[in-house]
Amino acid sequence: MSASIDTTTSTGSDWSALRAQLEAQRADCVRQREEALAECAQSVPDPVAQRRAADLQVTLGEIDAALARIDAGTYGRCVECGAAIPEERLELRPFASRCVTCTSAH
Ligand SMILES: [Zn+2]
Repeated sequence: MSASIDTTTSTGSDWSALRAQLEAQRADCVRQREEALAECAQSVPDPVAQRRAADLQVTLGEIDAALARIDAGTYGRCVECGAAIPEERLELRPFASRCVTCTSAH
C-alpha cells in the first residue's frame, strides 16, 4: 500500500465517504448500462431497455460531474445559486448539483 498525500485545500468538508459512494454508484451504472445495451442489441430492441440505457447515461454524466466538482472543490454547493446543499440531500443523491429550491424551480 502506498501512502498518498492529500493536497486538496480543505474547505472543512471531507467528501471521501461520498466520493467512494459515487464511485461505487458509477461502477454499478456502467454495469447496468452494459446489460441494457446488450438487450438493445438484440434483433428486436426492447424499448424499456433502450430507455434504461439512456437514463443510466444521464446518471453517469451526473456522477462524473459530481466527481469533477469534488476535485474542483465546488462539491456540495448548488451549481445555480451557490447555496450549500444539505448533507442529508447529498447522502440520498450524492450527485445532486442543485439545492432543493433550484431543483423545484425547474
Ligand atoms: Zn440553488
